[in-house]
Amino acid sequence: MTFNPAALSALVLLFIALGWSYALLRRLRDWRAGVLIGSLSVSVALLGLAVWSLVTTGAPGLPVGPTGLQQLAAGGLAMAAIIHFKVALHRDAITGLPNRNVLMRRLARALRRVHRGRSTGCAVLLLDVDRFKVVNDSLGHKLGDELLSVVARRLLACVRKGDIVVRLGGDEFVVLIQSVDRSSAARAAERLQEALSRPITLKSQEVFTTVSIGIAVSTSGEEPPETLLREADLAMHRAKMLGKSRHELFDISMGESATARLKLETDLRRATERHELYLHYQPIVSLREGRVVGLEALLRWRHSERGMLSPGMFIPLAEETGLIIPIGLWVLEEACRQMRSWQDRYPTLERALIHVNLSGQQFMQPDLVEQVSRILERTGLSPNCLGLEMTETVMMSDAQQTTSILAQLRALKVQLQLDDFGTGYSSLSYLHRFPITSLKIDRSFVMAMHSKQEHAKIVRSINTLARDLQLEVIAEGIERVEQLELLRSWGCQFGQGNYLCAATDQQTVEEILEGEWVPGQPLAVAN
Ligand code: C2E
Ligand code: MG
Ligand code: MG
Repeated sequence: MTFNPAALSALVLLFIALGWSYALLRRLRDWRAGVLIGSLSVSVALLGLAVWSLVTTGAPGLPVGPTGLQQLAAGGLAMAAIIHFKVALHRDAITGLPNRNVLMRRLARALRRVHRGRSTGCAVLLLDVDRFKVVNDSLGHKLGDELLSVVARRLLACVRKGDIVVRLGGDEFVVLIQSVDRSSAARAAERLQEALSRPITLKSQEVFTTVSIGIAVSTSGEEPPETLLREADLAMHRAKMLGKSRHELFDISMGESATARLKLETDLRRATERHELYLHYQPIVSLREGRVVGLEALLRWRHSERGMLSPGMFIPLAEETGLIIPIGLWVLEEACRQMRSWQDRYPTLERALIHVNLSGQQFMQPDLVEQVSRILERTGLSPNCLGLEMTETVMMSDAQQTTSILAQLRALKVQLQLDDFGTGYSSLSYLHRFPITSLKIDRSFVMAMHSKQEHAKIVRSINTLARDLQLEVIAEGIERVEQLELLRSWGCQFGQGNYLCAATDQQTVEEILEGEWVPGQPLAVAN
């Protein structure tokens, strides 16, 4: 057999074209598309050959032999490349779903149909996978991508002919539904949520996902496509804020609050530069001895127009925007520095703790342990004197990772406190499994203890349980002397609350530390 370079290169080109078609087929996840691309490539190549033959020989036909083969392959390859390029423009690489370009075109068309009265309405359902970052960070990006593909397939299985599913990017998907009103759009969202609530198996590990869905419906078709998408996005954020794993329909008030939120976000970004953030401290008291055994650092914002803002008004926003990371680090450093300086001045604080709240996002930072250790070094505070407070929700987001992070923090000798106990999962097995040092009973139970028998029983039981597990107990939210007396009678070790002393500024803390406290008496007046 003679070696024929033309035939060989034709063969190579054919293999490349075939490989390309296979890659496209996988990406489109539809064998019909693969067949279509394959036959399109071959027909264009044949057409090219016919034209070539017409030009070179004066008669249309199919020249055979190696050169003809080579031309056929080159034509096929060119066609596959063009289709590949077009697909790249319109399809998402991970899931094979159409992308934003396609959505905007289809949405504009759907709105036109509504406007002309050919459809009753159209709805944009914007889905965001809850806690996707946790899955991605803990299982790796490959499995994260696999999860997105499974979500895409389940969504596709739920929609009717004519509706489309699009991946917007990240963990966001859009389902565009035609001929709907608000209530049928909400029902569709329920169906999607149900389909996604079944566990997903990724490499023999079961993962549970939920989605938050924002719905925007147009029944007039007058809105521009971007507006409808923005409304769905606002509604989705509302769903997230209200606790995730739910759907919300857009209403006009969301637009107004979004503007206010945007302003608050801009102000918060500036607040750090303008030194508008500062700390208040609330004493934690030994209920037996009446000594101040610790101080909880609580963030405040001196807003230039709105006055003092409490953390509830801006911490959720700081979490959402990621601003909590630099803010949280500043709080940690400032609180440690302040405590160290107080310890130098007040020997009674030598073994006292400064308590600092950690948010979920901070807890997930890969360099958290390193940052804590560096701050302790910089400020000279002994690790034994730092207590990090985390809520159950923060701790339970990923049990395995949590155990490892907490163990590393404990290895630094930092104290770990479970904040607001009783309001989250209250998982008793985790109480034992996580290396926490103390537990703070949520103020909602303590504050209502004197009026609600059940609350008193809950506080009493948590106190007993924690002590049996050799955990220290701090009762938060002591507002009345009766509550203080009850807690004391149960042997509860530590307390914090407005009756003893509300969160207060640095100067008042110093006045408290310099004065003498009579056991059973409030420490200071509210700020
Ligand atoms: P928390 O960590 O549970 O802090 C205790 C909250 O209860 C404080 O509210 C405190 O002022 C309030 N409190 C204490 N005693 C009483 C009482 O007797 N009655 C009533 N009604 N309230 C009492 P604050 O300062 O508004 O903080 C609210 C939450 O904001 C904190 O709850 C904490 O979760 C969060 N937070 C505060 N500072 C920070 C921070 O620096 N970083 C992070 N991530 N979160 C913070
Ligand atoms: Mg706290
Ligand atoms: Mg608390």
